[in-house]
Formats: sequence, C-alpha cells, structure tokens
Amino acid sequence: MSAPTPCAPGLAICAPGPAVCAAGLPTRRASLAQVLRRLRRAYGPRPWRTWGTPLDELVGTILSQNTNDRNSDAAWRRMRATYPQWNGAADAPPAAIAAAIRPAGLHRQKARSIRAVLRRIRSERGSITLDFLRRWPTQRIKDYLLSLPGVGPKTAACVLLFSTLRRPVLPVDTHVCRVSRRLGLIGPRTNAEQAHGLLAAIVPPRSVYAFHVLMIEHGRKVCHARRPECGACCLNDVCPSAFTLPAPPTPTKRRPMRPPRI
Ligand code: SF4
Repeated sequence: MSAPTPCAPGLAICAPGPAVCAAGLPTRRASLAQVLRRLRRAYGPRPWRTWGTPLDELVGTILSQNTNDRNSDAAWRRMRATYPQWNGAADAPPAAIAAAIRPAGLHRQKARSIRAVLRRIRSERGSITLDFLRRWPTQRIKDYLLSLPGVGPKTAACVLLFSTLRRPVLPVDTHVCRVSRRLGLIGPRTNAEQAHGLLAAIVPPRSVYAFHVLMIEHGRKVCHARRPECGACCLNDVCPSAFTLPAPPTPTKRRPMRPPRI
C-alpha cells in the first residue's frame, strides 16, 4: 500500500470528525466546484454586481464594519445628506461626522477613520477622489488602499471587488473564513488573514464574487457560528465537519392553550 499523501500546508486534510479515515486523511472533503455548484443551486446565481465609485465603496465599507447592512445603509444616507461633497466631511469636526453616522455604531472611531482617509487623499492628490486607481494594476491599488489610515485587507478587498474598479479580489470575513474551514477548503486553524492568500489561490477569478456572496449567505442562513444546521445543509454529504458540531435545539412542541373559563 502506498504511503498517504502528505498534508498540504494550510489545507484541512486532517480535519477532525467522522469523515476522517484511520490514517488521518479525509474520506470526504468538499471541492470548490461542488461548493459553488450547490450553493448556486440553493441560493440562486450571483452575477457580479458593482455598487459605486472606489471612494464611495471605501467609506461605505468603513461604515459597515461590525454592524449590519440596515445600520450601515442608514448611516451612509445620513452622512451623504449631511455632507453631499466630500470636502465638507473632510473639513468637519470629528464629533459632527460621528453624529451624522451614529446608526453605524462605533461612530466616533469610524468618523476619525473616514475624516483621516478623506484628508489624506486630498493632501496627496489635490482632490477627494479615488478614480485615479482605475488605471493602476491590482496589486498597486491594494498597496495604496492598505496604506490609508484604518484600511485593512478585508476593506481593501471590498473596494477592489465591489466598486467600479471591479477586480477579482476576495474579501474574507468571519462567515467566509468559518464556512471555508468547516468545508475543508482551508485548514481548521487558519485565521482570516491567512485565509485571504489560501482562498485566493484556489478560487478562480471569474468565481470570486459569487463565492464571496454565497458563502456569506450560507454562513448567515445555515452554517451558523455556534450551531450549524447540518441537517438542512446542501453540502452535508461532502462536508468533513457535518454533524460534528452542536446542532440547533429542536423546537419544543407548545402545549395547547387551556380553553378560557366561561
Ligand atoms: S452546515 Fe454543517 S454540513 Fe453544512 S457546511 Fe456547515 S458544518 Fe458543513
């Protein structure tokens, strides 16, 4: 019998669970093509949509950190109503910006970041726009965005993928990282920062957008952080983590109500 293939660094070849054979190799491991095909079937196709200019997307992404879409959308509308021109926000006191974006939460910190980004762009480029990035290669744009105050790899990737820059760079958020780990696409202890590089190497550019939005949808609806609904999951026959994590509590039957006394 030939020796087992050594585990590739970063890959979940030895993911624990009943799907692992005696040699520690998986008897099941989801392939990227399977994952995409089944998630598309479950949630529908996800054609690549872009949302706005690179600067709009950057400010919108800062507002969306650690909050939900409803709150960040409300903060965005209030901010644009208060400051229809970016120069207005760049010259405003941080407390005034914070008041405008209050629904987003962490509003003081986000106000400082947004103001610092706007002022930095203006001091470097003479006006507040990121449209000059369109002519740049992807890696140069990424480096530039990461050099801005308060911008990390996930925010930079969101600007590249969702703005009119339209570059196939994968943002890895908590859902994408968790579901990828459970499916064995990356190692069980891979963190979000390492996952950026590992997933970028296996997700083809044409599928980056669909992979990102479908994994988030699956993470929100089925593969929850604490109690994934493996019984209802379209990937449970290929997922090495299926049924190895605590399941959601089964709904208890409500006792019939006592008839009212007459
Ligand atoms: S819900 Fe269960 S089976 Fe589905 S991807 Fe998550 S851990 Fe795997």
